[in-house]
Amino acid sequence: MQITINGRNIEAAEGSTILQTARREGIEIPTLCYLEGVNDIGSCRLCVVELSGSEELVPACNTKVKEGMVILTHSERVKAARRMVLNLLLSEHYGDCFSCEKNGDCELQKYCIEYGVETTEFTGARKEKNFKKKDAHPFLSYDPDRCIECQRCVKTCSHVTGRGAIWLGKTGMFSIIDAPFGEDWKNTLCESCGNCAQACPTGALTVKRRKAYRAWEVEKVRTTCPHCATGCQMDLVVKNGKIVDAVGADGPSNHGLLCVKGRSGSFDFVDSPERIRYPLIKNKATGEFERATWEEALSLTASKFTEIKNQYGGEALAGFACSRSANEDIYMLQKMVRTVFGSNNTDNCARV
Ligand code: SF4
Ligand code: SF4
Ligand code: SF4
Repeated sequence: MQITINGRNIEAAEGSTILQTARREGIEIPTLCYLEGVNDIGSCRLCVVELSGSEELVPACNTKVKEGMVILTHSERVKAARRMVLNLLLSEHYGDCFSCEKNGDCELQKYCIEYGVETTEFTGARKEKNFKKKDAHPFLSYDPDRCIECQRCVKTCSHVTGRGAIWLGKTGMFSIIDAPFGEDWKNTLCESCGNCAQACPTGALTVKRRKAYRAWEVEKVRTTCPHCATGCQMDLVVKNGKIVDAVGADGPSNHGLLCVKGRSGSFDFVDSPERIRYPLIKNKATGEFERATWEEALSLTASKFTEIKNQYGGEALAGFACSRSANEDIYMLQKMVRTVFGSNNTDNCARV
């Protein structure tokens, strides 16, 4: 169908929203609560646009396109409405950007800068409740004073991670997220994957490791998680040459998600002094492992395989691959077992 956005004639797919159509055409509309494919509750009202024939501004994230629609995404009326939304959000926001882990990487901060909202004109009511930070969880922390109740975390945990461990508690302006990050976190459904924290647009729900860095101090390196064969894509966060965090990236098998191993078990071992960095061969006389060259180690291994094959036949040998290996390496292992050992005794620990 044909619609018009900011004077441009655009072809829009039936069933798509104004936001999807605009973004596809490179027209940026700000959003806070919206998370593609996960959350389109339209509660933050930052994505409102002007629609001819409608007295009210409409949220772009969950308004479907209709033939002939004429839309303005950045009229003065729209920009004033967005400034008001940010103004109201800040009135219930008691965070201090300087001390916040998300400083420099916060969507609320970004839009406040973009729309020139530096302070709020209103007095909020949440402060009187004196909500406490939930900080007992080893990896995650929730600060209600920085929460904008967008529910991105809730929808991510229930619809994407499939745990349903967090929900919106209380009502109205006193809503907070009932997150299992208090003293009883071990007895909850939370599996510490951290996908909720990654979905949070502000510094309300954070992975604790973020205390150690700010966005402008780090670079990100795209890699594949080493913990299983799913092949999740992740960005390792590197500060001064050291890995300080891991964030899910949009890969074909994970679409931005990580499990607890990928998010929290992927980097501490990198700098461990206990890592084996070269081949070791056991000295029969002393029983101690001694450093060897690759040539020595591979020759010894090959000669032992040959000895066994000559004495007992290829069926006495087997190759069991690690599911953390790349597909190509696992393919090579079974090829060696079948062609060199002469055996079909090969398998992979992913099937255990
Ligand atoms: S959540 Fe964002 S706006 Fe709030 S204190 Fe943190 S950086 Fe600042
Ligand atoms: S860490 Fe994972 S399981 Fe726990 S609340 Fe967050 S999304 Fe849900
Ligand atoms: S914790 Fe973050 S994602 Fe969850 S409702 Fe609050 S601001 Fe939104």
